[in-house]
Amino acid sequence: MNKITNHLPTAELQRLDAAHHMHPFTANAELAQKGARVITSAKGVWLKDSEGHKILDAMAGLWCVNIGYGRKELAEAAARQMEELSYYNTFFQTTHVPAIALAAKLAELAPGDLNHVFFAGSGSEANDTNIRLVRRYWQVKGQPEKRTIIGRWNGYHGSTLGGGSLGGMKSIHAHGGKIEGIVHIDEPNWWAQGGDMSPEEFGLARARQLEEKILELGVENVAAFIGEPIQGAGGVIVPPSTYWPEIQRIVDKYGILLIADEVITGFGRTGNWFGSETFNIRPHIMTIAKGLSSGYQPIGGSIVCDEVAATVGGAGDFNHGYTYSGHPVAAAVALENLRIMQEEKIVDHVRDVANPYLAVKWQSLTEHPLVGEAKLVGLMGSIALTPNKATRAKFATDEGKVGYRCRERCFANDLIMRHVGDRMIISPPLVIEPSEIDVLIERAWKSLDETYAALKADGWLKAAA
Ligand SMILES: *Cc1c(COP(=O)(O)O)cnc(C)c1O
Repeated sequence: MNKITNHLPTAELQRLDAAHHMHPFTANAELAQKGARVITSAKGVWLKDSEGHKILDAMAGLWCVNIGYGRKELAEAAARQMEELSYYNTFFQTTHVPAIALAAKLAELAPGDLNHVFFAGSGSEANDTNIRLVRRYWQVKGQPEKRTIIGRWNGYHGSTLGGGSLGGMKSIHAHGGKIEGIVHIDEPNWWAQGGDMSPEEFGLARARQLEEKILELGVENVAAFIGEPIQGAGGVIVPPSTYWPEIQRIVDKYGILLIADEVITGFGRTGNWFGSETFNIRPHIMTIAKGLSSGYQPIGGSIVCDEVAATVGGAGDFNHGYTYSGHPVAAAVALENLRIMQEEKIVDHVRDVANPYLAVKWQSLTEHPLVGEAKLVGLMGSIALTPNKATRAKFATDEGKVGYRCRERCFANDLIMRHVGDRMIISPPLVIEPSEIDVLIERAWKSLDETYAALKADGWLKAAA
């Protein structure tokens, strides 16, 4: 076979991709007809494709490229580490400097007594670790029947069998099933499900489902509750202000463990180092990945509080781990990423510059006839598309069709904005500058206008009955 490089014609790359590459979360046969867009390079917030388009990536890859693309320092950190110690494991009473340094740095950054890190290769793996960790914790405590974990419908915790089971995406459960001992309560999605309640009333009602579920199962059977501070893949659902304080009260009252899945909300995304700080949550375990390395290397982990770490660690072997737990190259790159985040004060940039600048413009999108609500926390935002703002109606077409069409218009206008159902979502690199935010908003308006015109022409502006 000839060497496959960026210099092959796009059509040839697409043909080879379709012939041999199975894409995640994709209808592969359908994509094969159309051809995947070939991304060839990236710098800052900008992607380049094989056709020479310069695309503004308002999703930071998959919510992960927090410091932006193409930072040389990270490439150098990886090269240095590969030359010095390319790999060693941490299973058999050995360790190495990158794992030590990264664990210590995370303990310093994480709030409260979250002082211990169990490394994984991804967010999904880290959540699989969390299932074992919390069940093992209660086993050591002499309460082995406390093993049920409560998650939320439409939550996302990864797509391994464990992570997918913790998550509440029915489409994922439908492909391969779900492991036992995990149940779900409803999500705090006021826009879609709040009916006539105020957001505050609705937030309380949804949080109280946790208490009802604990009582229904019997607290003697419940190990933990897991939630994302802000649901990401579920559509950037920002919970009403009453939600997390009530969840925290219930978790405290019944003494179950709280897992905050910070895979997206961690590392500056919400304007603090962790979403738990933004929402005043005190988790026993945090799931991390994505922004930990800004996506330059695959790495994730669980940051664990003193008590859970001491309990599990004090009871002999914990029979769990990954070949690449604490991989030295991934850890060295994550450390360099965190060094840059701190040195360049990127969290301050989100809180003091980028969020305030974007917030006004993002809110102004609600003046568009298609846009119902606009939500933004830090640099994580969503808008709800609707045929009727006053009633928060859904479209008569199947949910997601309008969102998909809007995403296609964004794509055509060289803006990566994703859709979840009929919500459009953004999560740009945290280093985005005001001038780039202007481009983002300009392209978003243009795409919304084109979507509106197309919906109108096709008679798709009707509300569902
Ligand atoms: C992406 C994500 C995961 C899964 O992480 P992977 O690295 O894709 O396995 C878990 N939880 C949340 C909140 C995520 O957004």
